[in-house]
Amino acid sequence: MVIKNVSLDIVCGITSVLPENERPELAFAGKSNVGKSSLINALMNRKGLARTSSQPGKTQTINFYNINDALYLVDLPGYGYAKVAKSEKEKWGKLIERYLHGSKQLKAVFLLIDIRHNPSENDKIMYNWIVHNGYNPIIIATKLDKIKRSQVQKHIKMIKEGLQVLDETLVLPFSAQTKQGREEIWNLMERLMEE
Ligand code: GDP
Repeated sequence: MVIKNVSLDIVCGITSVLPENERPELAFAGKSNVGKSSLINALMNRKGLARTSSQPGKTQTINFYNINDALYLVDLPGYGYAKVAKSEKEKWGKLIERYLHGSKQLKAVFLLIDIRHNPSENDKIMYNWIVHNGYNPIIIATKLDKIKRSQVQKHIKMIKEGLQVLDETLVLPFSAQTKQGREEIWNLMERLMEE
């Protein structure tokens, strides 16, 4: 897709009403620091629009990025911050649950996993949660540039086994540094938008 214009249209907090909209939505989930903002910025060709979890003041919101008035990239809040209090985690869970359960325009959910590591307990919970809500998560294995090319298939297998994914599950490797995988992800997103 040729990116003509992008804007952060909607920021949805714990107490907000989720927006009703006509455009297809594609959502992105993953633990903090997995590279979600970097991926979203790379997909949009924008350097600093999506904010990274390391930036102070990043709040637990669902952010809707409008691409060409044609679709929304939906940035779900990152999980796995040890510092966050239990009550906050519960609110966070409700926010995501409400979105996954309630969105009428959500076409697919991408779950980001660091290609170097075995999926964590939280990753497994998130994966199963997405499945439970009726979506077959598409895995994006992030930080591809951090491992040797000869190791890629082994790591993809490790992620599939760790999450115990369904057979047809796609695992797409991606690097925000080299942009490797960007085209493949966009090709898939364009197909999903039409569904
Ligand atoms: P978020 O918390 O999931 O939004 O993660 P960020 O996008 O903020 O990334 C967390 C850290 O990982 C930052 O220091 C990024 O520069 C780094 N990072 C993200 N993606 C990549 C990547 O593909 N390759 C490398 N080498 N570093 C990455």
